[in-house]
Amino acid sequence: MRALTVMPMKEGSFTVTDVEEPVPGEGELLVDGLALGVCGTDREIASGEYGWAPPGEDRLILGHESLGRVREAPPGSGFAAGDLVAGIVRRPDPVPCPACERGEFDMCRNGRYTERGIKELHGYGAERWTVEADYAVRVDPALERVGVLMEPTTVVAKAWDHIERIGSRSWFDPARVLVVGPGPIGLLAALLGAQRGLEVHVLGRRASGVKPDLVRDLGAVYHAGGLPHVAREVEPDVIVEATGVPRVMADTLGATAPGGIVCLTGVSTPGHKVEIDAGAVIRELVLENDVVFGTVNANKRHYEMAADALARADLSWLERLITRRLPIDRAAEALEPGRDDVKVVVELDS
Ligand SMILES: [Zn+2]
Ligand SMILES: [Zn+2]
Repeated sequence: MRALTVMPMKEGSFTVTDVEEPVPGEGELLVDGLALGVCGTDREIASGEYGWAPPGEDRLILGHESLGRVREAPPGSGFAAGDLVAGIVRRPDPVPCPACERGEFDMCRNGRYTERGIKELHGYGAERWTVEADYAVRVDPALERVGVLMEPTTVVAKAWDHIERIGSRSWFDPARVLVVGPGPIGLLAALLGAQRGLEVHVLGRRASGVKPDLVRDLGAVYHAGGLPHVAREVEPDVIVEATGVPRVMADTLGATAPGGIVCLTGVSTPGHKVEIDAGAVIRELVLENDVVFGTVNANKRHYEMAADALARADLSWLERLITRRLPIDRAAEALEPGRDDVKVVVELDS
């Protein structure tokens, strides 16, 4: 069978190769891969900057944004042949740390967790894959065309879950959210903000195109311009940052209304120094009781929240988030970001 593989930390090693059929272990499902979403993490791994193959192997099967159809399920697993599923990405560390022990492997304290398609476990970018029944999440059959958005949706489901938990430190009734960066994570964060009844604002670089249209069709307000100016105008209670651009991320600090929460989801790269007036920014954070926090990954509870959010969303809006679908033999093209791309998907059954 064909799979998307890479030799981690080796630039130019990405290729679609023939690999052995996976054999399900006890309690595991055998799944026909339908679709695989591609994101910045995959691009980083493919360009040799990140990723780990399973111990003793050279190549890693890429892919963590999964959608598949169950081919075989063990009795009593709760799944049956034909079910649509997505696989959870992270597995707890073997110790396990106190967070992993409690099912909060997204908050692993010792860094020894593993991740499908990223860290020491083969990913879901193959014509067939296996997954432990406990780490498979059911996807509504109505979502077949968009169920591949499950994993990025879990990332924003966790972001909102933590925003609300942090907010509950005192009275918290946010009215406005400013999402910075209209990529897949930003747009899904905007969707979940709208589902919560907030007034949603999204800041991007371009004044027109697919992304501003998607924002407006959510009933949200699109802004193109500088963050400091837009934040002063909007006075957001919550900022969700999804660009990973250090200058933009620095500008979110202290840019909320008093008691505000800044949630950082973008992953910046080291080596980019930006100037900030630390005295002014920190003073603002302290005097306004502001919170800045980072978030990554998601646990099983967030997969359930994401499944619920996708089921409540407008299907045609979700479909428009997927701007390119490529057959498996052209998977390499999916790793090259296009100008007006939101989410690029590889069709594994093509
Ligand atoms: Zn991803
Ligand atoms: Zn852990």
